Amino acid sequence: MIELAKELEGVRSVAIAGHIRPDGDAIGSCLGLYHYLKKNYPEIEAAVYLEKIPRAYHIIPGVDEVRHEIPQEIDCDLFFCLDCADEFRLGDAGAFRKQAKRTICIDHHISNSGFGDVDYIVPDASSTSELVVRILEEEKIPFEAAEALYMGIVHDTGVFRHSCTSPETMEMAARLMRRGIDGSKIINATYYDKSYYQRLIHGKALMESTLLEDGKVIFSFVRRKEMDFFDVETSDLDGIVETLVGTYGVEVAIFLYETEPDMNKVSMRSKSLVDVSRVAQQFGGGGHVRAAGCNMKGTAYEVLQQLLAPIKSQLEGGEQ
Ligand code: AMP
Ligand code: MN
Ligand code: MN
Repeated sequence: MIELAKELEGVRSVAIAGHIRPDGDAIGSCLGLYHYLKKNYPEIEAAVYLEKIPRAYHIIPGVDEVRHEIPQEIDCDLFFCLDCADEFRLGDAGAFRKQAKRTICIDHHISNSGFGDVDYIVPDASSTSELVVRILEEEKIPFEAAEALYMGIVHDTGVFRHSCTSPETMEMAARLMRRGIDGSKIINATYYDKSYYQRLIHGKALMESTLLEDGKVIFSFVRRKEMDFFDVETSDLDGIVETLVGTYGVEVAIFLYETEPDMNKVSMRSKSLVDVSRVAQQFGGGGHVRAAGCNMKGTAYEVLQQLLAPIKSQLEGGEQ
C-alpha cells in the first residue's frame, strides 16, 4: 500500500498519466487522483496527460483540463503512472517516466512487472480506480474525484458484473457514493448511452459474427471503411466484444477492428476456461485473464488463424 501523504512530502510538481487510447479506468483513475491533489494539496502543481478522451467521458469533471502535449522540458518531482502495464503503453508520456525525479506505478494488469520507484500493483483488483480509492482518505475525497473514480470502477467491472468485482470493490464504490454522486447518471451517460450510428455498427458487428470451434469461440471484425461510413470512432466500438462473449456456449470472444491497412486492434474476452492475457502476451499485448488485447498485422482471417491456435490449445486443456 502507498502512503500518499508521505509520498507527497516536499513535492512541488506532479504529473499523472495513463495508457494510450485511454479507457474509462485510465481516465477515471487519473482525474480522480488529480482532483484529490488539487483540493487537498493546492500548493502542488498537478497536471494530467492523456491522449484524446472519447466523447462519452466528457461529462466527467476535469476532462477539459487534461493536457495532450508533453512539455519539451520536464520538471517533475513525482510522476503517477496509472492503469498502464508497461512503459511502451504510456506513449509520449513515457518521457515522464524517464525524467521525473520519482515514479509511482498503480495498476492491476497481471502483465505489469513493475517499472516505478514504488509499485502498487494488485492483479486481483477490479480496476486502477479502485486502487486509487484505497490510498485516499475517504473524508477528503472531493465530489469531482468521486465521480471520476466511480466511473473508472464502473467501466472495468462492466457495471459491477465481471468476476473481478470483489467485496472490496463494492466497499470502495460505496465510499465514493457517500460523497453524494449520482451513480446512475454516470453509468448511463458513460457506459450505456450510444448514438444511433453506434447502435447500427454494433448491430452490424453482431450480424456478421461467426461461431467457431463448436460454438466455443465467437469472432467479429469491423473494417476502417465501415467506421468511416458510420462516422464512428474506435471508442464507439467499445462493448461489442462484451456482448459477443455473453453468447450461450461461447468461451472466448475475439473482436478486431482495422487501425490502418493490414493492422488490427484485437480485443479478447473469456468466460471461464481460457486465460486471454497469455494469448495476448504471445502477440506483444497484455491485459487480464478475462479481458486482454493486442495489435496484430495481417488480414482479419490471418489474425484469427494465429489467435485460434493458442486458444484451441487452452480449450483442449493442452496448456492450462
Ligand atoms: P480492450 O480489449 O482494449 O478493452 O482491452 C482489454 C484489456 O487488455 C485492458 O485492460 C487493456 O489495458 C489490455 N490491453 C488491450 N490492448 C493491449 C495491448 N496492445 N497491450 C497491452 N495490454 C492491452
Ligand atoms: Mn485501462
Ligand atoms: Mn484498468
